[in-house]
Amino acid sequence: MKNTQKHSQYLDHGIFLIDAEYGDSGVAAIYLLEQDGEIAIIETGTNLSIPYVEQALLETGLSFNQVRYIIPTHVHLDHAGGAGELMQLCNNAKLICHPFGARHLIDPSKLEAGTIAVYGEDKFRQLYGTIRPIDADRVIEAPDNFSIDLNGRNLRFIDTPGHARHHFCVYDELSQGIFAGDTFGVSYPQITTKQGRFIFATTTPVQFDPNALLNSISKLMSLSPQQMYLTHYGTITPSPEIVEQLKQSIIVFKRIALEAEHTNNNRTEAIQNNIQQFLLKKLFEMGCEQSAKFCSEQIKMDTLLNAQGLDVWLKRNKINR
Ligand SMILES: [Zn+2]
Repeated sequence: MKNTQKHSQYLDHGIFLIDAEYGDSGVAAIYLLEQDGEIAIIETGTNLSIPYVEQALLETGLSFNQVRYIIPTHVHLDHAGGAGELMQLCNNAKLICHPFGARHLIDPSKLEAGTIAVYGEDKFRQLYGTIRPIDADRVIEAPDNFSIDLNGRNLRFIDTPGHARHHFCVYDELSQGIFAGDTFGVSYPQITTKQGRFIFATTTPVQFDPNALLNSISKLMSLSPQQMYLTHYGTITPSPEIVEQLKQSIIVFKRIALEAEHTNNNRTEAIQNNIQQFLLKKLFEMGCEQSAKFCSEQIKMDTLLNAQGLDVWLKRNKINR
């Protein structure tokens, strides 16, 4: 751990953003909510992120014992990979997750195998280590509209399929903000344009469903959120322009996938190239003055995962037709 560096920042309403240092800084966030001495942690990052959670707690005079809830928005490992280790450290905590995700955190073997299929064994161990299982009696399943009370602060769970079927978002009544996981896309603040933030959807394997995702975004917007707390990365104001940009990306990604459907060789690569081209063109149109090389580097992992997810969606889409 780079001890000299600060890895967390106070936002507002008792909310801290902790950098999960997922491969690099500014890639994945963990949110810590403190309400009069009780804590909820939304997203866990990976096992390697836990020292940064500990550091943030120490800096604010808090401890693992005050953590009541650990809440991964879905079970993809950049969000839930550290949940088992963190639960081990937080004796008074319950884990809250989507009903479709619970069994994978109680027995992570399938989740490990599925992620190894995407990243390969070496990269998997390097990114995630070994996933620790969680006792079933410490897991609470949160269906749509389920809510919890964090020392008088209401947190409500909104079922949001689309990125994955095991995805929920968390509406925080106090900030009127939504912890959006991957439902409200990715937007890296280090990429800047004259027209404001650049945002696009994430279509990671293996359950991407474009129509469900569009509906889930509308469902979130029906709550009139003041703020979105993105896991990738940080806060964003969900203006009509931002929502439009996000929804447009889903429609374009779907079109790119369908156009590549009959590509015989390297279909994923073809999809990735077209996604990359679309995003860079969009950035240019929005008056981004950073180099294409810099921007490509920032979104490289996302374009690859998006292409892989769209490829899987094409196969599923074909079977269902
Ligand atoms: Zn993610």
